[in-house]
Amino acid sequence: MAKNVPARVCIGCLERKDKKELIRIVRVSEGIYEADVTGKKNGRGAYICKNAECLNLAFKKKGLERSFKESIPEEVVMKLKGEIESLG
Ligand SMILES: [Zn+2]
Repeated sequence: MAKNVPARVCIGCLERKDKKELIRIVRVSEGIYEADVTGKKNGRGAYICKNAECLNLAFKKKGLERSFKESIPEEVVMKLKGEIESLG
């Protein structure tokens, strides 16, 4: 049975990908961001490839700022990078 796989755009490389290949970054509260491993966290979210390079790109191109409409401190990006890298 053919099933439509939802596609999302990575905020780093801006490529359209299968949702399963991406990780959702969720704004939990003001200035607090988490990589949503379960896909069930509430809050505004953005999708990114599961690699640190795309996170670097998103940081450089202000993709995170654009998605969340607030400035994202570098330490938040570093924390997210750690979370994404730990996913393997
Ligand atoms: Zn990407």
